[in-house]
Amino acid sequence: MNVLVYIEVRDGEVKKASLESLSEGHRIASASGGAVCAVIPGANLDAAVAAAKGHGAAKVFTNDSADLANYVPEGYLASVVEAASQCNAEVVLLGATSQGRDLAPRVAAKMGVMFLPDVTKISTDDGLVATRPVYAGKVNISLKAKELPVVISTRPNTFDLAANEGAGELVAISPEFNAKAKVVEVVASGGEKLDVAEADRIVAGGRGLKEPENFKVLEDLADSLGAAVGASRAVVDAGWRPHSEQVGQTGKTVGPTLYFAVGISGAVQHVAGMRTSKVIVAINKDADAPIFKLADYGIVGDAMEVVPALTAALK
Ligand SMILES: Cc1cc2nc3c(=O)[nH]c(=O)nc-3n(C[C@H](O)[C@H](O)[C@H](O)COP(=O)(O)OP(=O)(O)OC[C@H]3O[C@@H](n4cnc5c(N)ncnc54)[C@H](O)[C@@H]3O)c2cc1C
Repeated sequence: MNVLVYIEVRDGEVKKASLESLSEGHRIASASGGAVCAVIPGANLDAAVAAAKGHGAAKVFTNDSADLANYVPEGYLASVVEAASQCNAEVVLLGATSQGRDLAPRVAAKMGVMFLPDVTKISTDDGLVATRPVYAGKVNISLKAKELPVVISTRPNTFDLAANEGAGELVAISPEFNAKAKVVEVVASGGEKLDVAEADRIVAGGRGLKEPENFKVLEDLADSLGAAVGASRAVVDAGWRPHSEQVGQTGKTVGPTLYFAVGISGAVQHVAGMRTSKVIVAINKDADAPIFKLADYGIVGDAMEVVPALTAALK
């Protein structure tokens, strides 16, 4: 099976989610006797090309143009579709980042093929089978592709990174496209803050923090762990935290290595966004809070006592 992987670059840096897709693409292609290609639209792509090669890409299709320095859906779409054709791709993988969520269905529609979003596992033992959580994460569904190609978006932080040196043969492409809009300015909302959707560690807080000022203790814990701060919807709706930090059904889906749920009850809509976290630590003063059913480690206690003590211990 030939696999094409879309490599997302932001400010010259490759998104980790793309390298996870590429590692998985390399595994699928190797297991089924195919090759893995990468496609990188954008500008100043040297670092991205090196990363793609270092994660197993046999061929790297680049569309290097100043016009593509920012995400241009039509231009990026044309690049992926052109590379899929030249690579004879039977599987096209994209990380389910915010950009990937925009681009992947466009690619599937343009190619006229099936789209499997937010996949957490892929098997090629018996045809191509992709597994993804449905019903707010209560059930995993496995779908077998009846025909190829398919377009799949992979959930960030669920596939392992693997260093595999590929041949990295460079192929420049520049398909025509007709952009309907142009990015004139990009304003970052969170300054230097880590984005919860991509963070490897998250310290999330809920209504149990009692007041917005108390999030300072979570920020201190997050700093000592190199983690991002997340939030439940209750505190976002209350205006304590920005929506960009909200985890859950109507917020972001996260899958970090470590997730702290502090003063968060564990409502199904919150859990939907974080249940695939690898290690979950719950801190809640109510021993019967539903979050403890999901947690790997639980501390029953007052967040304002437990969290500063943890931070002090970590420091
Ligand atoms: C359509 C829909 C979509 C939704 N989407 C989302 C979503 O995306 N994300 C989301 O989070 N929610 C979402 N919700 C809301 C969700 O149902 C819950 O209302 C919300 O998650 C509750 O937030 P919470 O856990 O912070 O607050 P609460 O449920 O009020 O829980 C607070 C917790 O803090 C504990 N606590 C209290 N004091 C302390 C203390 N001193 N120390 C430690 N613990 C303490 C309590 O025991 C309790 O368990 C959605 C709801 C709907 C209907």
